[in-house]
Amino acid sequence: MSTTVFIGLGSNLQDPAAQLREALAALAALPQTTLTLVSSLYSSDPLGPADQPRYVNAVAALDTTLEPLDLLDRLQQIEQEQGRVRKAERWGPRTLDLDILLVGDTAIEHPRLKVPHYHMHARAFVLYPLAEIAPHLILPDGRSLQELLASCPRESLEVLAPAPLVTR
Ligand code: ATP
Ligand code: CA
Ligand code: CA
Ligand code: CA
Repeated sequence: MSTTVFIGLGSNLQDPAAQLREALAALAALPQTTLTLVSSLYSSDPLGPADQPRYVNAVAALDTTLEPLDLLDRLQQIEQEQGRVRKAERWGPRTLDLDILLVGDTAIEHPRLKVPHYHMHARAFVLYPLAEIAPHLILPDGRSLQELLASCPRESLEVLAPAPLVTR
């Protein structure tokens, strides 16, 4: 049985839109996995340190039979292949960030993996792209995505480019 997993993508270094397109191709190439849906590309002001470029963000849906921790390992490998350098500074600039937002209806509490992603409920750059590809989504705690959107202003979020074409 495959599970639908939503991934949040972000980049603010070295041609962010191209980083996201490359990451989407890498997601599509994962074994036991189909990339099914991709949102438009959005841009938004950075979280945390303000002296860094704006982010490009998107959300993608996968159908996968990979175990969640296996998927996390593979996402971190893709981040590394695209030159992610982990620094001490929280929310500092990065070439690629891949967060697991949701794994079907399940909640995961593991030292390396918390699902739903702990801040997704209040992040415009996650909720608006997610709503584009899954408008009727209900979270594992029973809250609807529409309800979360109603209390999350768009603020600096802008649509930057239409959804990239993805070949399965
Ligand atoms: P934020 O989590 O606030 O978006 P970040 O994405 O910058 O910040 P990272 O440095 O990319 O944080 O990740 C730190 C650790 O978070 C990772 O090593 C990973 O083990 C852990 N983690 C926990 N839950 C998740 C999740 N749902 N998706 C991705 N990583 C997660
Ligand atoms: Ca595949
Ligand atoms: Ca993140
Ligand atoms: Ca991350």
